[in-house]
Amino acid sequence: MNILVINCGSSSLKFQLINSDTEAVLAKGLCERIGIDGRLTYQPAGGAKEVTDDAMPTHTEAIQLVINALTNEKTGVIKSLSEVGAVGHRVVHGGEKFASSVVITPEVKAAIEECNDLAPLHNPANLIGIEACEKLMPGVPMVAVFDTAFHQTMPGKAYTYGLPYEYYEKYKVRRYGFHGTSHSYVSKRLAEFLGKDVKDMKIIVCHLGNGASVSAVLNGESVDTSMGLTPLEGLVMGTRSGDLDPAILEFLAKKENMDIAALMNMLNKKSGVFGVSGGVSSDFRDLDEAAEAGNDKAQLALDVFAYRVLKYIGAYAAAMNGVDAIAFTAGIGENSASMRSRICENLGYLGVTIDEAANAKRGEDNIISTPDSKVTVAVIPTNEELAIARETLALVK
Ligand code: AMP
Repeated sequence: MNILVINCGSSSLKFQLINSDTEAVLAKGLCERIGIDGRLTYQPAGGAKEVTDDAMPTHTEAIQLVINALTNEKTGVIKSLSEVGAVGHRVVHGGEKFASSVVITPEVKAAIEECNDLAPLHNPANLIGIEACEKLMPGVPMVAVFDTAFHQTMPGKAYTYGLPYEYYEKYKVRRYGFHGTSHSYVSKRLAEFLGKDVKDMKIIVCHLGNGASVSAVLNGESVDTSMGLTPLEGLVMGTRSGDLDPAILEFLAKKENMDIAALMNMLNKKSGVFGVSGGVSSDFRDLDEAAEAGNDKAQLALDVFAYRVLKYIGAYAAAMNGVDAIAFTAGIGENSASMRSRICENLGYLGVTIDEAANAKRGEDNIISTPDSKVTVAVIPTNEELAIARETLALVK
């Protein structure tokens, strides 16, 4: 069966068409500037990338253009829409309502809408994508795969904030965690790669991309994770601050005459390694280059990032009373050998020893610890689209 995987944002939409039998990506691409003008990037497997400017007043036109590209006589990969067996939608926030993926029904859409307050930038866009697909592909089953679902196994002591309990009761203010599809996929893949059962393992997954989070996966279930009610908490990210003293908000509001909207914008878009480096970049390749050229703030940003990851690894080893394996994934986790080795420098107390030659190697799943390391450290490339396709297949077959 061919499964169309859709990740819909407010003005953009990423897609992949995956054959669920072979798990091959048949075609992939991106719609950008939806509601502004519109640009489609489309690439069939083994073929050249095509970029076309085409009007996309709404997500419906964008998805129609994706369908046209997929069924195009010359560069398409299917003859007609009847070859799409199901659609898997990434949905950012499922609140406490969804602990696993679900087939989309009117009730499910209403429940996703009820989570809009928790993810005002993402959930409404995810719903628009679902409704546009329903309109253009009537009768094709649709599945929602939530970023938060994998973390619904966290115990109360991990998800409860030290706030008056009434805010949890009234508004469900609690830790939810994100990147769940990735943490789930990577922890399972790591166990499989090591020939072990995930149900017998204590795993720490470090998803280090532009957005970054760490999770503690005990016997296959998430028991803690660094992101919170929103993706702002936890690690120092590309442009997000991560953890900080909440009193800083009042202090800066007074000093800089900033309102809540300005503060939130600063914390989400101007902070993280971008902010610490004095605006050098949020991209670690640029930061590495600047640090090597002697830029002290770029060096500090890299140190702050690594130190925060290190602290979370220590915290999660404590949370699980030990750790068998640590996985690095996403843009930085998969590609930056220097960042992996910097993070692991102070993990000797856990019995971690890194094999620098193995760490320098690029490729697929890769063990980077020495054979006698007490904790296995590995690079496991994440594949959220494939994970969404698998979840979708499991529900519609
Ligand atoms: P993601 O959000 O998972 O796509 O990760 C994107 C981030 O990965 C970029 O912002 C870069 O900081 C980082 N990245 C990608 N390639 C490299 C590399 N070769 N070395 C260091 N960082 C990288």
